[in-house]
Amino acid sequence: MSHDPKQTGQARYAWREIVRGNVPKRAAEERVTDFHEIYSLFDEATIREQASRCVQCASPACVTGCPLSNDIPGWMSLAAEGKFLEAAEVSRRTSNMPEICPRVCPQEKLCESACVIHEPAGAICIGAIEKFINEYAFAHGAVPIVKATPNGKRVAVVGSGPGGLACADELCKHGYAVTVYESQMLPGGLLLFGIPAFKLDKQIVERRVNILRQQGVVFKVGVTVGKDIGLDALLSEHQAVFLGIGALKSKALDVPGAELKGVYQGLPFLAQKNAPINLGMPPVDVKGKRVVVLGGGDSAMDCLRTALRCGAADTVCAYRRDLANMPGSRKEYANALEEGARFMFLTNPLALEGNAAGEVTAVRCVRMELGEPDASGRRKPRAVKGSEFTLPADILLIAYGFDPVPYPPGSGLERVKVNEWNGTITDADGMTSVPGVFAGGDVIRGPSLVVHAIHDGRKAAEGIHRYLSVLAKSTVPAGPPVQPG
Ligand SMILES: Cc1cc2nc3c(=O)[nH]c(=O)nc-3n(C[C@H](O)[C@H](O)[C@H](O)COP(=O)(O)OP(=O)(O)OC[C@H]3O[C@@H](n4cnc5c(N)ncnc54)[C@H](O)[C@@H]3O)c2cc1C
Repeated sequence: MSHDPKQTGQARYAWREIVRGNVPKRAAEERVTDFHEIYSLFDEATIREQASRCVQCASPACVTGCPLSNDIPGWMSLAAEGKFLEAAEVSRRTSNMPEICPRVCPQEKLCESACVIHEPAGAICIGAIEKFINEYAFAHGAVPIVKATPNGKRVAVVGSGPGGLACADELCKHGYAVTVYESQMLPGGLLLFGIPAFKLDKQIVERRVNILRQQGVVFKVGVTVGKDIGLDALLSEHQAVFLGIGALKSKALDVPGAELKGVYQGLPFLAQKNAPINLGMPPVDVKGKRVVVLGGGDSAMDCLRTALRCGAADTVCAYRRDLANMPGSRKEYANALEEGARFMFLTNPLALEGNAAGEVTAVRCVRMELGEPDASGRRKPRAVKGSEFTLPADILLIAYGFDPVPYPPGSGLERVKVNEWNGTITDADGMTSVPGVFAGGDVIRGPSLVVHAIHDGRKAAEGIHRYLSVLAKSTVPAGPPVQPG
């Protein structure tokens, strides 16, 4: 069948004639000189063409592959017809941050990996099209501020990462008076203080937070729940609480010499170099230095690429498994390689060496080989006898992942039941062991993805709405009256 998608504007079967496009990306030599986002947008004609490659499957696997079950074929067909505002409207129905997810989601592991169109034709460019339609909507002033009729009930959201923001957004749309308590001085969580600006411009986060403010969400920043205010005080002022406090306790490096000068955790380093405010930490200067990053996840890739942008002379990632078993996104690995990072796979640190001034000078490493799969399904690394070697280093950045911060005793939060790694336990509605206290995001999953936190925030908002409107009508404390805003 001959088919010209440019003429018909239909989203169906054009993948036979049109190959997957490469999203415009700045050259590596240019992008390592700044912290601006590296990808730009396709033009309108290319978006229509690329969207027209979608097959419009009857049972779309991309929807199943998306943790938010986004109606991807729905917006593809509208985008193919050039109806970008309508397409953006469809994408907003299931996602509270449809301009942020396409920038940070590992689509190659989610929606795009599920797409029925495989190599060599290549999956539909789902992320690039989602980003385009939503930026188009912003550029045309077509992102509505939803003002719901107040229902007279108050909810506290603790933490303003993607989980907290999504929960606040959904609750606001149901008419709740929502106050977000955030220990940092700016809202955004890891969107602001973790994920580097070259992946997600900080103004994009600010723009989203401002939409919530305009919808009536109140942000109380610089307030740590459990320290500045206890859980019972929150529950006396609100009828429900959502805990979206993430998993922000960095895993330690447990080898001799870990206390040497020049050894830093990756997250504070990233926060310092990327956050839009001064965090008051002593600056970590990597200019002209040999930087070794330990770990193989997204944080490790971000540390490497941030160090390169800060002028490191050499940037090496040492990871104990091989590339196939590395958890980091392949897209970000490829970007790190292009920007000049080096990778030493099957390499594990044994000890750090230092000089008389107590500064780190090298990492004593051992080569690893992979054995049988462990509980995570990845092959377990083991040391190769007699393969020790020394890797010179002036700065070491540890990116071994995170655990949830334990709830402080006496804060009321210690009543919330946790599992063996401190993850908060929730039921099918997102409610914890404390009635009226819900949780979601990294605090229940451990380090995960933005899109999972959004999913959990939405789910908990629905759980809170059910709890407050049906289940506990007679038992939920009234709280003080809500002042008209
Ligand atoms: C360096 C790095 C890079 C990443 N890159 C990606 C990526 O590219 N793509 C992706 O999908 N995911 C990425 N992630 C993971 C993603 O950022 C997280 O999964 C997601 O942000 C979790 O959202 P959250 O809402 O659960 O918590 P967070 O985003 O961690 O937010 C928690 C918030 O709670 C606040 N808080 C904590 N305790 C309290 C308290 N007691 N009182 C008040 N406030 C409190 C914190 O200050 C923080 O603002 C990355 C993570 C890191 C660390």
